[in-house]
Amino acid sequence: MNNVKIVVAGPRGNMGKEAVKMVAATDHFTLVAVIDSKNDGKLVADLPDMPALQVPVYTDMGRCFSEHDADVLIDLTAPAFGRKHMETAFAHGVRPVVGTTGFSDADIKELRHTSEEKQLGAIIAPNFAIGAILMMKFSQMAAKYLPDVEIIERHHDRKLDAPSGTAIKTAQLISEVREAKQQGHPEEKEELAGARGADFEGMKIHSVRLPGLVAHQEVIFGGEGQTLTIRHDSMNRASFMPGVRLAVETVLGIDTLVYGLENIIE
Ligand code: NAP
Repeated sequence: MNNVKIVVAGPRGNMGKEAVKMVAATDHFTLVAVIDSKNDGKLVADLPDMPALQVPVYTDMGRCFSEHDADVLIDLTAPAFGRKHMETAFAHGVRPVVGTTGFSDADIKELRHTSEEKQLGAIIAPNFAIGAILMMKFSQMAAKYLPDVEIIERHHDRKLDAPSGTAIKTAQLISEVREAKQQGHPEEKEELAGARGADFEGMKIHSVRLPGLVAHQEVIFGGEGQTLTIRHDSMNRASFMPGVRLAVETVLGIDTLVYGLENIIE
């Protein structure tokens, strides 16, 4: 593979920091610039706890793409910015690989339209951990036989969106094989609002936010006299980087938007 020129947005964040390290450590990748919410005009080497890279920092993504030739944007920022960043990348002929969560179905539909119109591939992955993708695939397989299911996702307490993109994606995959079905007692009553969690076609999704956690999910199935639990744990942000690398390599060869890493992993 030829050298891939990459811009990382969100380089001081937990995910972005790992992405900067991964890009710098990959022979056929070159980090050409980073997009930060501050520190315009500095170098990556000037930012605290960052590798000593002489790579420029921009706060204006449009200006960055006007001044640097880039193939791929890796976006790991915040739900409010993911869509805008993708639109800016498309406008400059750059292919986005996005881990930022919080996209609606309408966002994805419209972004896919732009991607196809411009013939620029894009990948949005609510979870880049390959083990988490397998958890989702195994859950879909189990739901065909055990349609009573509840999802418990656990994340660090700085996470802005709930439920997690992975939990929603898991529920969407399960709903492809499971008929909508109300779970629990038909007359159950919440003594405290939210006690039974969020409802996705009758499936319940529970979000836990605590310091010390990274990203964890259990999918629990119940049947006559049995339960089945499928669980995945990301112990640190490095667990996401093989998936980010795979997405960067894949996005160069596609001309549509792919939502979910499970669609590029056989
Ligand atoms: P984080 O530690 O809060 O980092 C986010 C970083 O983005 C911060 O440094 C923030 O800067 C910066 N930022 C915010 N808005 C920006 C903008 N407009 N331009 C440039 N930089 C901006 O969050 P994280 O844990 O790294 O997660 C980042 C995103 O990835 C979240 O949406 C999270 O849900 C998602 N995520 C995805 C995966 C996956 O596998 N797909 C895994 C974990 C997390 P300030 O602090 O100055 O605002």
